[in-house]
Amino acid sequence: MSNLVAVQGLVKHYKGFTLDQIDLTVPEGEIVGLIGENGAGKTTTIKAILGVIHPDGGTIQVMGKDPGDRTALEKVGVVFEDSYFYGGLNAHQVDRILSGIRRDWDSDKFRKDCNAFDLDMKKPIKDFSRGMRMKLSLTTALASHPRLLLMDEATSGLDPVIRGEILDIFLTFIQDEGCGILLSSHITTDLERVADQIAYIHRGKLLFQQGKDALLEETAVVRGSAAVLDRLPQELVLVRRDGGLSGSAALVKDGAAARRLLPDAVIDRTSIDEMMQLYGGREEA
Ligand code: ATP
Repeated sequence: MSNLVAVQGLVKHYKGFTLDQIDLTVPEGEIVGLIGENGAGKTTTIKAILGVIHPDGGTIQVMGKDPGDRTALEKVGVVFEDSYFYGGLNAHQVDRILSGIRRDWDSDKFRKDCNAFDLDMKKPIKDFSRGMRMKLSLTTALASHPRLLLMDEATSGLDPVIRGEILDIFLTFIQDEGCGILLSSHITTDLERVADQIAYIHRGKLLFQQGKDALLEETAVVRGSAAVLDRLPQELVLVRRDGGLSGSAALVKDGAAARRLLPDAVIDRTSIDEMMQLYGGREEA
């Protein structure tokens, strides 16, 4: 299986922030969920992949080409949280304009998807709700038959019904041969539903990129007093928080091993949200 995106040792310095040696891949056939706290470096990473910003170090390949390469970009669909169109246009006009500009533009698919999404082709986009604008962005991104979808917070602020529709589109999209998605989101339940892999950027560093199922099945949280947690071998502990609202807790990489070592301790399955809270040092989001 080849990688649609291969990022190695990506470095980007801003005043007061460094994106530090990020390694990230988006394999064909997979949805990679990119998580991280506000300001962790997710958008910066996505912009570097698109060639919108220039890295200070590392290498990036997008379908075997450098970021920003025209032939590669033609196969990339992009949806950002705040992407929108000139408000005076309607979807019908967007179709006409883009069919004249984009080589692979598929008007039939665009109109069909607009219809499936209940988007009124004649309504000015300025009168669309946020969810409708997001659906239009996604429909527009898909109308050129991309192989790679890059989505930055695309489902934030949308209701569960629309998010469900969009997630279904991702799952359909990924069934086409050679396609993949990189999806940054704070809605970790969406990622738990659709992502194959989770990549976690924390304060500019990549903590891990790992298969989601293995991550959620193997990782666990041990809860108890500091004395109980002291009995865990260091190599098992990913991160530990002492004395939070609900006592001390340690995220362990192998829940089964922890259960064998501490049969009387409280050891729970975990979620992406809880992992982020433990790494981020917060008890509650
Ligand atoms: P969020 O979840 O809040 O969208 P993020 O993980 O996408 O956050 P980035 O937008 O990548 O985070 O920002 C990472 C850091 O880089 C932040 O400290 C931000 O202020 C800084 N940054 C981003 N772009 C610039 C820029 N053009 N100039 C200076 N600093 C920047």
